[in-house]
Amino acid sequence: MTPFLAVANPEELKNYCREHNFPAFRAGQIDSWLHTHCVVDPDMMKNLPADLKAALKQDFHAPGSRIAEISTSPDQVEKLLLKLHDNEYIEMVAIPSEKRLTFCLSTQVGCPVGCLFCASGRNGLTRNLSAGEMLEEFCIGTLRAGRPDNLVFMGIGEGLLNFDNLAVTLNTLVDQFKFSPRRITVSTSGFVPGMKKFAALKREFNLAVSLHAPDDNTRSKLIPPKLRYPVAEIIAAADEIAKANNRQYTLEYTLIAGINDSPEHAEKLGRLAFAHHAKINLIPYNETGGAFRRPPAKVIDDFENTILNTGARVTRRIERGSAETAACGQLRAAKTAGGK
Ligand code: SAH
Ligand code: SF4
Repeated sequence: MTPFLAVANPEELKNYCREHNFPAFRAGQIDSWLHTHCVVDPDMMKNLPADLKAALKQDFHAPGSRIAEISTSPDQVEKLLLKLHDNEYIEMVAIPSEKRLTFCLSTQVGCPVGCLFCASGRNGLTRNLSAGEMLEEFCIGTLRAGRPDNLVFMGIGEGLLNFDNLAVTLNTLVDQFKFSPRRITVSTSGFVPGMKKFAALKREFNLAVSLHAPDDNTRSKLIPPKLRYPVAEIIAAADEIAKANNRQYTLEYTLIAGINDSPEHAEKLGRLAFAHHAKINLIPYNETGGAFRRPPAKVIDDFENTILNTGARVTRRIERGSAETAACGQLRAAKTAGGK
């Protein structure tokens, strides 16, 4: 299997140069292009000789992914559709705000969890992304939009089902790309075995749990049973992570009309979050062509107020991006519609 240059560490670069009879200082130059400038393509590494560039391109995916399409919304959110080396597609999104640039990164091609409201899970899982491919999302995004302030693994896929590759990605971002773990968030649908491994990393990464319901009965209307865990187990695992990482966690709550948007849901959710020192982030549902609907604005406002009355902290996801492709996975879904 061809390795990815984006995931090569300084030691591996040194070994590569030695084995291919290039002087050791060349490894330092590649390292600097990669980890300081986020340049993965040897052709852009201006101070390398042609034979080394050619050797790198032959021996590595450098890079394996290319930008296939860019959709820019009026508020400057850029969604990049990336074509992988095997012609699969994923998305990464660059979201600027006044103060910060945030990248939303994918972890899998498709998703096996299959939440009923989500475009990413509609056709199941095609394959995991390698660490090199996730790091390429970061590098390609950085070359296009600048170095981000925050990274959120909230694109296509369930990262904790691709734990080993995600762990390499996270550790490489911190150790090689010098990205603060406090500025990285991993979002999970509540895959408890993966959450336990995440806790064992013991680094200050942030956790977002896509809870969407404060009770198992409501949750069963949104997430198929195959990879769904009980709310109590998910919260226990999130508490363990909060302790290990020394961070508060966030409960993500996608509000869907008539399913999880009643005052009773709000009350129960608020109490749960308050008891566990968690923040709540409300995401008004983005309709993706299925049967689910976004609740009316008044219902969303009331839901938020009911939570506030419980004393819990709540924010609302600022809605960015063009309406038709705002939700994760929708650009890829449009691209592959009918294809698979
Ligand atoms: N698999 C992980 C991370 C990717 S999904 C997870 O589920 O957490 C990231 C977030 O986008 C989840 O909270 C999910 O509920 C939300 N989401 C997916 N489709 C959506 C849609 N159509 N409208 C609003 N939020 C959506
Ligand atoms: Fe997968 Fe997350 Fe979408 Fe659920 S919401 S199908 S876990 S990407």
